[in-house]
Amino acid sequence: MELDPAALDFPDFAPGSVWLVGAGPGAAGLLTLLALHALRAADDVVYDALVDARVLALARPGAALDYAGKRGGKPSPLQPDITLKLIGLARAGRRVLRLKGGDPFVFGRGGEEALALAAAGIPFRIVPGITAGIGGLAAAGIPVTHRDTNSAVTFVTGHASGGDIPDGLDWAALSRGAPVLVIYMALKHLGTIAARLIAAGRSPDEPVALIARATLPDQRVVRTTLANAAADAARSGIEPPAVVAVGPAVRLGDVIARATSALLP
Ligand code: SAH
Repeated sequence: MELDPAALDFPDFAPGSVWLVGAGPGAAGLLTLLALHALRAADDVVYDALVDARVLALARPGAALDYAGKRGGKPSPLQPDITLKLIGLARAGRRVLRLKGGDPFVFGRGGEEALALAAAGIPFRIVPGITAGIGGLAAAGIPVTHRDTNSAVTFVTGHASGGDIPDGLDWAALSRGAPVLVIYMALKHLGTIAARLIAAGRSPDEPVALIARATLPDQRVVRTTLANAAADAARSGIEPPAVVAVGPAVRLGDVIARATSALLP
């Protein structure tokens, strides 16, 4: 597939710059055209664990692919090491593509990388991507907002950098004020999260969907309820990456997913 960046008025990927790009939730078809343009032009692609091999295969032949995620039980590279690498490559005059799953600014530490690049005086550009909390729900047939069920949606992380449930979250307030919750990184603490929501007043019968490897051929969706979410997650053997959707809109996904076989891009 060839793009004509000039006809599309795309910016040049200048040597010595970094593009911080979202790769979308997984399927290559959900890349933006700018992400594809960046993949075609980059000298270095520094990618994380959630970027699918079929997306990386779109990189310019000869581009250096540099993995910056966890692998084989080894600890993940420290964030400062990743930013130093980006800065070093840019200073060496390379076109550096920092490719992150979903959207780089949604629970992706893209903000930290952008701040480090800004502090180092490296020219950079941000290219948003489809975040898993929206694209992943769509791939399970779940509208994140729906006039009859919810006019707000709340994105939450279930996992702080230290591995615990984030301290700063007011689950009682979320329970009252967030008709639909989309929880990233939620599997590990799903039982605790569900218990906190129920303790704060959410119905144990509220519909929940666990969506793993959304948009990829091995996508899995487990439909359950708040009360049963942790047990059903364990029983199903579902594994990260997964997003968890809680709220009445989840029920619409049953109808919509049944009616179309073309949810996966
Ligand atoms: N920046 C990413 C999120 C990174 S945090 C984004 O915008 O989507 C990592 C978490 O994202 C995972 O633990 C999971 O909750 C979610 N995630 C990313 N890709 C996913 C996928 N294909 N299917 C389900 N969840 C996914």
